[in-house]
Amino acid sequence: MAQILSGAPAAEAMLAGLSVRARALRERGVTPTLVILRVGAQEASRSYERAAKKACTAAGVESFTIELPENAHMDAVLHAVRSINAEAGVHGALLLMPFKKTEQAACRELAASKDVDGVSPASLASVFTGERAGFAPCTARAVLELLDYYGIEPRGKRVAVVGRSLVVGKPLAMLLTARDATVTLCHSRTPDLPGLCRSCDIVVAAAGQPGLLGADCFAPGQVVVDVGTNVTPEGLRGDVDFEAACGTAAAVSPVPGGVGRVTSAVLALHTVEAAERQN
Ligand code: NDP
Repeated sequence: MAQILSGAPAAEAMLAGLSVRARALRERGVTPTLVILRVGAQEASRSYERAAKKACTAAGVESFTIELPENAHMDAVLHAVRSINAEAGVHGALLLMPFKKTEQAACRELAASKDVDGVSPASLASVFTGERAGFAPCTARAVLELLDYYGIEPRGKRVAVVGRSLVVGKPLAMLLTARDATVTLCHSRTPDLPGLCRSCDIVVAAAGQPGLLGADCFAPGQVVVDVGTNVTPEGLRGDVDFEAACGTAAAVSPVPGGVGRVTSAVLALHTVEAAERQN
């Protein structure tokens, strides 16, 4: 039976360490603060917001929400982002928006120094250049935090990252490359995906396709990390056939209870780092 890479202990260890750093900031008169700018009230946004606030509370980070109606005009959203940029007491911002066009404009407007979820072009550029000017998307970093917590070293390993989005796959490939892994970035046109996955030491699934990676994708000794978070009639499912992976691989992260749990802890971590950098 494979080792289960549960996210809870990794997140708890991170949050405990963060509360010490947050206390040190408070002693210097700085209260690390995250603002969540939410447009509309979609359940997916509300659920991410709840998880973010819970992690912030556990880490000693202050958090509050600015809520705009779903039909808010683009100007109102951009005005809110500019106010966040100008507010010295706010160190990090999380943008939760239902419409792609508004989201893209808001992401471009957000100051990289406060972009703790790595959504602005400047943040992504810093992930690719390796500069520490911005922050990586929380989910991408959460995968590395999970591996680190369980003592799984990416250096020298062959890694398949399935999914090439700017939110997860591409930045994760860069972070793994910076940690001396040899990464193959896979997508919907990758030939023989199962064979490629089997040939790798670590497989990270971030495709948004429930159960995409089945028994033919896994090999003995492998580490399988499932980023997929898919709402299905049977409940929340990952991109990995969990039972099949557990039957072959050495270690597997579950959904729910794996990477997602670490992602909100990384958001708190980035907010503390932003507060430290800004002060
Ligand atoms: P996107 O839809 O933006 O990207 C999906 C990627 O997967 C694309 O690159 C696509 O390839 C690739 N893909 C789709 N189908 C296949 C296939 N059959 N074979 C190989 N590759 C395929 O999704 P996101 O990156 O935003 O999210 C991916 C998953 O991660 C989702 O389940 C999402 O819910 C989850 N997620 C989880 C988070 C967490 O904190 N746990 C946070 C963010 C996302 P192509 O480019 O060719 O179309």
